[in-house]
Amino acid sequence: MTYSPGVLDLPVADPWFVTERVDDGITLVTEPHVHPLLRCNVWHVRGHRDDLVVDTSLGLRPLRHLVESELGHDVLAVATHVHGDHVGGMHEFGARAIHSSEADDLATPGVINLESRVFGPAVCDPYLDAGYDIPELFIDAVPAGGLSAATLERMPAPATLLLEAGDVLDLGDRAFEVLHLPGHSPGSIGLWEESTGVLFSGDAVYDGPLLDELDGSDITAYVETMKRLRKLPVTVVHGGHEPSFGRDRLVELCDAYLAARS
Ligand SMILES: [Zn+2]
Repeated sequence: MTYSPGVLDLPVADPWFVTERVDDGITLVTEPHVHPLLRCNVWHVRGHRDDLVVDTSLGLRPLRHLVESELGHDVLAVATHVHGDHVGGMHEFGARAIHSSEADDLATPGVINLESRVFGPAVCDPYLDAGYDIPELFIDAVPAGGLSAATLERMPAPATLLLEAGDVLDLGDRAFEVLHLPGHSPGSIGLWEESTGVLFSGDAVYDGPLLDELDGSDITAYVETMKRLRKLPVTVVHGGHEPSFGRDRLVELCDAYLAARS
């Protein structure tokens, strides 16, 4: 019998989150001690009137104080989709938005598991194929205060705003159009700012192994999403995982997907 490391054996990382100012209006918050597979990018977008938070990570530690507006603005938390690594902190925010097709799941308690053995090949194989290590635990440290188990409950966070394709989130000086980008999940969305070419893409596209065989995934829909993304005149894509990238890389990622799946 082999000994399996548990969360109680891990060192403490404090602070847990790392913030990085991307530009005058956008800050990235992320969790360096979470494996890339579950390490969600949290994007804080500061507008003149309102702020946005795009995705809210696993919920291992409170997040809201890191993305609260210095100016006292309202902060709308938008989930690009309802997977556990993106919505763990949604309940902390008073204003919560998600695509209508995933709203029921967000309103229901969930479970987030940090043990790789409970994730099937649909999740792990694309990462193994791309050369990533899949450890027994998807964290290599615990936040201050520790964790009592590798399975965490996710609080229900009923949406206060249901999003549909074409909706516009207006922050005063900047405005993001909701793009419905199904494939990874049925209600995956992107937030597109035409005036600057900034796209928050969630898990529809990022510069890492893309997952299209999960429960709720749809490869036919994903192919159409990739054809659409390929034509978008982006300047920068801020994805749900991994570092940001520009238009040339977006085209490469879309073409690689389309070559494999269409
Ligand atoms: Zn996802």
